[in-house]
Amino acid sequence: MRTAIYPGSFDPLTNGHLDVIQRAAKLFDRVVVAVAVNESKQPLFTLRERVALVKKAVAYLPHVETDSFDGLLVEYAAAQKAGAIVRGLRAVSDFEFEFQLALMNRKLDEKIETIFMMPKDTYTFLSSRIVKEIARLGGEVSPFVPAHVQAALKRKLKPGK
Ligand code: ADP
Repeated sequence: MRTAIYPGSFDPLTNGHLDVIQRAAKLFDRVVVAVAVNESKQPLFTLRERVALVKKAVAYLPHVETDSFDGLLVEYAAAQKAGAIVRGLRAVSDFEFEFQLALMNRKLDEKIETIFMMPKDTYTFLSSRIVKEIARLGGEVSPFVPAHVQAALKRKLKPGK
């Protein structure tokens, strides 16, 4: 059974993430979307919320699971018996950081391969950060995130909260 881990902050999950998950699900028998605790990034959504939003979005994909992790990704991947880490590449701007991360992870555990997936071109400009910015300013985010994520953003960013 071939398992891949797709790690990230998912603060919150966007259609770009979903696109990568769907592509990975075609290549692997089991895909674990692993939400990073990442307190240092001061996420808008709590870990529980981020996990719940991902879980709902992938419910229709039978061999995709949602989990959370803290600490070293390669150790988590080994514990999940994963042979690969999946990351998304949007543009050249992602490349340098992702390249560094992939080589570092290989140094830490050379048995785990990093695989890069490119999303549909319409999602290449999409990031959780931009979605949060648009939502904060009252813009329409429905083209960029699933409906339940849109609703969660609305609730989270309600004036007075
Ligand atoms: P991180 O904090 O690890 O960057 P993100 O949730 O922002 O977490 O992203 C997780 C992974 O998904 C990263 O590999 C990132 O490049 C990728 N990703 C994010 N948005 C998109 C998108 N619109 N299309 C393709 N990949 C994406």
